[in-house]
Amino acid sequence: MSIPTELVGSLPRPMALQEAYADYDEDKITWEQLQEQQDKAAEDSIHRLEQVGEPIVTDGEQRESSFATYPITDTLAGTGLADNLAGDGQYFAIFDDGHHRQLPRLTGGPFRYKTFASEFVEKNRAVASHPVKQAVIAPSMLMLLHPLEGELPGYSREEFLSDLCDECEKDIRQAFDAGAVRVSIDFTEGRLANKNDSRNPWTGRDMLQDFIDLNNRVIDRFSPEERKNIGIHTCPGGDCDSVHSKEVPYEKLLSKMFQLNAGYFLIQCASEEDRESVYKLVGQYSRDDADGVPQVCFMGVINPLDPEVETPEQVRDQLLAAAKYIPVERLGATDDCGFSPFSRDVKPKHGSPDFARDIAMQKIAARIEGARMAREELGASA
Ligand SMILES: [Zn+2]
Repeated sequence: MSIPTELVGSLPRPMALQEAYADYDEDKITWEQLQEQQDKAAEDSIHRLEQVGEPIVTDGEQRESSFATYPITDTLAGTGLADNLAGDGQYFAIFDDGHHRQLPRLTGGPFRYKTFASEFVEKNRAVASHPVKQAVIAPSMLMLLHPLEGELPGYSREEFLSDLCDECEKDIRQAFDAGAVRVSIDFTEGRLANKNDSRNPWTGRDMLQDFIDLNNRVIDRFSPEERKNIGIHTCPGGDCDSVHSKEVPYEKLLSKMFQLNAGYFLIQCASEEDRESVYKLVGQYSRDDADGVPQVCFMGVINPLDPEVETPEQVRDQLLAAAKYIPVERLGATDDCGFSPFSRDVKPKHGSPDFARDIAMQKIAARIEGARMAREELGASA
């Protein structure tokens, strides 16, 4: 028996792949040539994760424009944008280092995904010898494709939300059907929802409860048996080694997040100043019975934004501290975030994305070993 561990999803894209994305945007290479580079990087990700002993692997999202935009655009520059979208939508987030990420804007209906995550699952299963997971985007993020104010002609906000929920449900179901053993839903906008950043109007609209209700509209379509393997990931952002909402009091999110009827949570924690208060809040608010499933809490023990590699002993000690507040049978270990949620990310604090891939593997190995050590200790004292 071990404390379960799971990665969030993404790994830095090798520089050669990032250059291939840019070349594709500039028409210098074909879609097939870009896919060749994606497949190569995906295979390398899977094999390296298997080598360090990650029990459930991903392709590091090497084929995705980003964790949020994979269903609707082939590249971050907007090449291959889905129908009824324009490039100039709301900011998703403005990060602490000043850079921002912008979403497309819905211009009319109907809203449809052009790419479902099951495409990646199928390809990954063909090369993986370990079980495969897939991260998908939350309806609450894509809800921000709709202009904040007003209605679109001929396509009401409610019609959009209804289509959106259908597409998200399909994305999750198809990923399972393609053979994913776990599907985690990225919910980074949860903490950002209380930021009140005047440069980014949606963060001042108190939307957290709307986000949770919308996500449950999708999650509640699944049986307890299915929801055991449906997770939620929360973090304060993790792009270009920078964050977007770490200063927002975590309690505002954690006191509500466990209303989501998911069976497990991937919770950023390693980079928090006061980890103990996070363990307490998670212990206090997570539920033994979320409409038929216990909520397993995977605590972040690795900081993907910091090139310094954690030791297995540090990981072990964090998990032992967490076990004081969270029942051991509902405790797991994860990384604070994906290692590179957006395809264009040179990992500035690391020096290069290729080096950051090496560092990521060392960090993942430390998580796995630290979780094993924690289990041994907890088993011995039980
Ligand atoms: Zn994250």
